[in-house]
Amino acid sequence: HLPTAELQALDAAHHMHPFTDATGLAAKGARVIVRGKGVWLNDSDGNRILDAMAGLWCVNIGYGRKSLAEVAARQMEELAYYNTFFQTTHVPAIALAAKLAELAPGDLNHVFFAGSGSEANDTNIRLVRRYWQVKGQPEKRVIISRKNGYHGSTMGGGSLGGMAPIHAHGGMIDGIVHIDQPYWWGEGGEMTEAEFGLERAQQLEAKILELGVDTVAAFIGEPIQGAGGVIVPPATYWPEIQRICDKYGILLIADEVITGFGRTGNWFGSQTFGIKPHIMTIAKGLSSGYQPIGGSIVCDEVAAVVAEGGEFFHGYTYSGHPVAAAVALENLRVLQEEHIVEHVRDVAHPYLAERWAKLADHPLVGEAKLVGLMGSIALTPHKESRAKFASESGTVGLRCRERCFANNLIMRHVGDRMIISPPLVITPDEIDTLIARATLSLDECYAGLKA
Ligand code: PLP
Repeated sequence: HLPTAELQALDAAHHMHPFTDATGLAAKGARVIVRGKGVWLNDSDGNRILDAMAGLWCVNIGYGRKSLAEVAARQMEELAYYNTFFQTTHVPAIALAAKLAELAPGDLNHVFFAGSGSEANDTNIRLVRRYWQVKGQPEKRVIISRKNGYHGSTMGGGSLGGMAPIHAHGGMIDGIVHIDQPYWWGEGGEMTEAEFGLERAQQLEAKILELGVDTVAAFIGEPIQGAGGVIVPPATYWPEIQRICDKYGILLIADEVITGFGRTGNWFGSQTFGIKPHIMTIAKGLSSGYQPIGGSIVCDEVAAVVAEGGEFFHGYTYSGHPVAAAVALENLRVLQEEHIVEHVRDVAHPYLAERWAKLADHPLVGEAKLVGLMGSIALTPHKESRAKFASESGTVGLRCRERCFANNLIMRHVGDRMIISPPLVITPDEIDTLIARATLSLDECYAGLKA
């Protein structure tokens, strides 16, 4: 390939990046990633980088898996494309849907495919509204979500999500309201974690009563908020949400785009938190990012009611794309045959958990949270008061991320929270490297702040 500087110049001139400050990018140049194997990436300058984010929380089985490439090539030769509209189907979509029905808990037995998590959540908006329409209650169309939740970047996904900068674009779709997030360390004040979890969950009940139960279709939430900063809810939160949804007959959507396929030490985050959703959103780890694919796994009752209504006027050209479906199926085979979900449990607790918790002793770190292989630390100038940095929000996190980058570790920052979500195949040795590089980066960032 071209030398790095030339690649960066072309990139800055012609490539518009998602979620990126383009002026900063032009000045610094993007890091050019050229290769991956396991948890490791190589950039165009030959650096070997530990990817503690699995790309964007997605490369669950690690980089460089030959069998997925072979399956893709075979499927492209056999049937590169066909759609699943108008009473047609194909073998990869059938096989993948059946496999997902087997893996998903309860009676989540029906899969509507999409090309991404955002598209799947757009599907969910239509699905739940269609469900109530067919049941003769079309006024039940409000979906309740959380501030600082993330459900994608399409107009539907962005509206469901509660990210202020996305809402600032304007034009959000109607009928979606947001309650507060269960972020105890940042917002819990004097309350115990258990009290705070209940208080935040009971906002759902208050909102349902305020709006009128006759108007509310569904509640959506990520078992653990990912893009919001790996916000692990208090243990009291999800049982209370479940109780409220059950009491008022509100559909419950678990957005498992990050938490699905082993991330939390079970196949789905819903199992880790005891959630019984009517619909699960899936993407990312479904194919370990080897192909773009997402979907909604729907329970028997919702699928039956929607089917009763006749044609569901919704779908994507690439719903159930045969190459993506075949690759996802191979990814699930690898996850299962290599016992990767069990590996997450083994390596996360206590090995990573003990080392991660110790980061909270660092002078810059307020709390350290970890569930399975999904973790976060909060950066603070004063642990006891849980103070935030006076500097613009996220500046210290950004500096810390840059130190990680310089130390060949990819961690992400969300404001002043630093997060990890490594490939699930990470070994204890690689965890040691991750912790050593993260600690060094925190030390450097701390020294820089004092200077
Ligand atoms: N839902 C959650 C919980 C996510 O974390 C994401 C992406 O990060 C999405 C939905 C959107 O998925 P995609 O980027 O594939 O559209």
